[in-house]
Amino acid sequence: MKIVAIGGGAAGFFGAIAAAEASPHAQVTLLEASPQVLAKVRISGGGRCNVTHACFDPTALVQYYPRGGKALRGSFARFQPHDTVAWFESRGVALKTEPDGRMFPTTDDSATIVDCLVHTAQRAGVQVATGAAATEVIPSASGFTVQLKGGKTIGCDRLFLATGSHPLGYRLAASLGHQLVPPVPSLFTFNISDPRLAALAGVSVPLVRVKLLVEGQKPLEQEGPLLITHWGASGPAVLKLSAWGARLLYDARYRAAIQVNWLPALKVEVLRGVLLRVKEEWARKAISKHCPVALPQRLWQRLVESVGIDPELRWADLSKKALNLLLLELTQGQFEIRGKGIFKDEFVTCGGIPLAEVNFKTMESRCCPGLYFAGEILDVDGVTGGFNFQNAWTTGWIAGQAMGG
Ligand SMILES: Cc1cc2nc3c(=O)[nH]c(=O)nc-3n(C[C@H](O)[C@H](O)[C@H](O)COP(=O)(O)OP(=O)(O)OC[C@H]3O[C@@H](n4cnc5c(N)ncnc54)[C@H](O)[C@@H]3O)c2cc1C
Repeated sequence: MKIVAIGGGAAGFFGAIAAAEASPHAQVTLLEASPQVLAKVRISGGGRCNVTHACFDPTALVQYYPRGGKALRGSFARFQPHDTVAWFESRGVALKTEPDGRMFPTTDDSATIVDCLVHTAQRAGVQVATGAAATEVIPSASGFTVQLKGGKTIGCDRLFLATGSHPLGYRLAASLGHQLVPPVPSLFTFNISDPRLAALAGVSVPLVRVKLLVEGQKPLEQEGPLLITHWGASGPAVLKLSAWGARLLYDARYRAAIQVNWLPALKVEVLRGVLLRVKEEWARKAISKHCPVALPQRLWQRLVESVGIDPELRWADLSKKALNLLLLELTQGQFEIRGKGIFKDEFVTCGGIPLAEVNFKTMESRCCPGLYFAGEILDVDGVTGGFNFQNAWTTGWIAGQAMGG
């Protein structure tokens, strides 16, 4: 049996290896358009490769996927982060877990993962061709003929499309009868130009609650750390919102607003009590210089000034009206989003092959028998933290088992 995998990324490698290992007599060829395989793995996780996430309960795991979680529920019952860890460990690569659950190779070097995949593919007999872009696929009586850039063709019984978010991959899928959910970016930072954040780049707050407000839409809400950048806001709370709101934001041309509660651990009335108490206890101290809550001093100062409180005003002289304004700023401050930025550690595309057109038990197309999919080409994407690679490993492994079986 001949299997051709198109796309030498995480999903393509995992699927090709699984197929070759499941069926040692199969001839598996992996085609990669660029000169180098596994380019995204190499740059992933800031060069460390966040391989997966230490979440070993499939029901909990699917909650991290804004799109595709439901379809992946059964897939994770078959191959989940625990299996990813075992897969790499059995091939000599140990993974470690960071306090936030992200898992990396103990070497902190993505080259460890690249080398492992390349060597495993070699050992399994997968023929890897680089600089081999598939430009067309023609179904034939017994399978497919794949046309390569430069004119060569290659025939196969089973075809595996793992081309990530590359437009050519979408085109090949469409030519074989698939619809496409329009691809749009996910996992990005928010561009915000606001005097309250200016010159605070690098300041981070460990826990905020952020509400995304898009006109005419139900607000979305996420909690987590927030990082102020030169261009606006980043950090897990923002990135999670960018993923859950990816389509809404795209449709709104990235014109929206966020409402930030800088102190979500305190109920508003408790926070009011704190401010009233320090008004008594710190009566002679300047408000802007004496922050009574767990916020970076520079941010506190900026928020105090933004509601019109004089930097020299003492706590004793804080009026009831100004206290209420400060309370509002601390818990419901609104910031206009004026575009999206790039999160250099990870970004993905949502959209792609509609999930209803794929049998998730095998990853085989429901439109074109013998055609299989895995990875980012599917309308599946996760939040940041190793979930996108886990999708590639899981769907790649299932497709490989089915193609080789
Ligand atoms: C900067 C960055 C960092 C990231 N870090 C992480 C992380 O730490 N953890 C995490 O979980 N996720 C991370 N991601 C997301 C993750 O990299 C992707 O979700 C994952 O790589 C998808 O794998 P894939 O194999 O489906 O697609 P890809 O990795 O995109 O691979 C597809 C391959 O197919 C090739 N190809 C396309 N069309 C053709 C064709 N016609 N013929 C031949 N070859 C073709 C492409 O050249 C490409 O090599 C990161 C993404 C980026 C951009």
